[in-house]
Amino acid sequence: MELLQNYIDGEWRASNEWQAIDVINPATQQCMARVPYGGATARDVDEAVAAASKVSAAWAEVPVMQRVQPLYRLKALLEEHLEELAEIVTNECGKTRAESIGELQRAIENVETACATPVLMQSEFSENITRGIDEFVIRQPVGICACIAPFNFPGMIPFWFLPYAIACGNTFLIKPSEKVPLTMQKVMGLIDRIGLPAGVVNLVHGGKETVDALLEHPQIKAISFVGSTRVARYIYAKAAQHGKRVQAQGGAKNPVVVLPDADLETTSRIVVDSVYGCAGQRCLAASNILLVGDRQGQVKDALYEAAKSRKTGYGWADGVEMGPVISPGSKARIEQLIEQGTHEGAKVLLDGRGAAIEGFETGNFIKPTVLTDVPLDGELIRTEIFGPVMSLINLSTIEDAVTFINRNAYGNMACLFTSSGASARKFRSEANAGNIGINIGVAAPMAQFPFSGWNDSFFGDLHGQGRHALEFFTQTKVVVERWPKEWSRKF
Ligand code: NAD
Repeated sequence: MELLQNYIDGEWRASNEWQAIDVINPATQQCMARVPYGGATARDVDEAVAAASKVSAAWAEVPVMQRVQPLYRLKALLEEHLEELAEIVTNECGKTRAESIGELQRAIENVETACATPVLMQSEFSENITRGIDEFVIRQPVGICACIAPFNFPGMIPFWFLPYAIACGNTFLIKPSEKVPLTMQKVMGLIDRIGLPAGVVNLVHGGKETVDALLEHPQIKAISFVGSTRVARYIYAKAAQHGKRVQAQGGAKNPVVVLPDADLETTSRIVVDSVYGCAGQRCLAASNILLVGDRQGQVKDALYEAAKSRKTGYGWADGVEMGPVISPGSKARIEQLIEQGTHEGAKVLLDGRGAAIEGFETGNFIKPTVLTDVPLDGELIRTEIFGPVMSLINLSTIEDAVTFINRNAYGNMACLFTSSGASARKFRSEANAGNIGINIGVAAPMAQFPFSGWNDSFFGDLHGQGRHALEFFTQTKVVVERWPKEWSRKF
């Protein structure tokens, strides 16, 4: 079984750590590789930082127009290897072929957006702020930056940061999730071919010990994290304690409001996609569905029908619309939450527990599940389930829905389905969430927009992607200059 190596200083290197854990295909339980995992990965981080540090000053001096050239080559290689990469995503993460391709396309869009860095990095200049004095801003790289990624988008999430960081003149370390390290392993093989100087991009495997080494390393200046809220909070505090700038995106519990004037066909199709896409393992997964007003029964029936017909199975197989969840532990946790919901008074309208998929009997499958009469003070309302479970909640007015949403600790996304412009306008203004969808189940924002979580879904101020990334990965220097005429030699 292959033991994964790190990519440091432009070459593949064995980890200092001899202990390793299995990388498991969640549909088959087949072990696909082993990934280094333990305290000695801290020494790997030291090696990667040393490599990044060696090239940092020289890379920062490369003109920005030249720094983006390797990104054009990376885009071409990612497109060329899209199918192969997508199959790796499906096999280590479980999602369907279409979902894997979709996340990689979003990765490519981030590479394309970062190619605009020569323009995005331009700055302000004011002539004559007072007589004879000019003032302007220079954007300079921050230095060595690191990204710590979660399991659910192995191909996309590192790209919220990587292309922007290097285009801005920084050097970069990636720590993928130990559950899904193979996609970035493959991507790094492509990065090896795009003409970057050795040490500009490095990959280090591992778990908590690796993360702590990144957070504590005095030469690392910026940390980009995506994962659960519990860990995001820890990262934010610890990285700040060690003097770093941090952006830490956390978990979510996303509400969708359906008003009685919503188009039933469109709404039920999109809501079901939003709940069950990636088997509910998306930080933008819809989870609490708030049915408002007098068509609750009709909407419930439409959602039930759409959920029931969704085909669950091995993600790479034709026609499959939903894959397994990441691990047996995750499956057990989700099933236990459904059980707890029923003890608190929820009714199971569609039960996806005990799913058996022919040919994949050992996979971590849960079929679409729909719960009704979910009590407003129950566990299911508050907890991020991260599985294919829809909780239906009946409310009377849009005001009730907004109050419900704004009581939630998270704030990643909130959606509304309606045909009323006035309701939409009220909702987008009053709902306490960083991403809003109107008649749409929020997909990850396009690369030119920030991935804008709020509250317990985000710790920091500048988000991933687009202009926010440009700001995060540069530091501003304000220059005030005076060049009196009388100091100049006459020619
Ligand atoms: P996780 O927090 O368990 O792990 C994320 C990363 O942190 C991994 O690389 C892991 O190795 C590391 N890690 C785990 N425990 C740690 C600890 N105690 N100390 C230091 N590092 C630790 O998250 P996950 O299960 O991989 O991903 C799912 C979570 O990520 C969900 O909560 C989901 O909502 C969230 N997520 C958020 C966004 C967003 O943009 N807000 C996007 C994707 C996923």
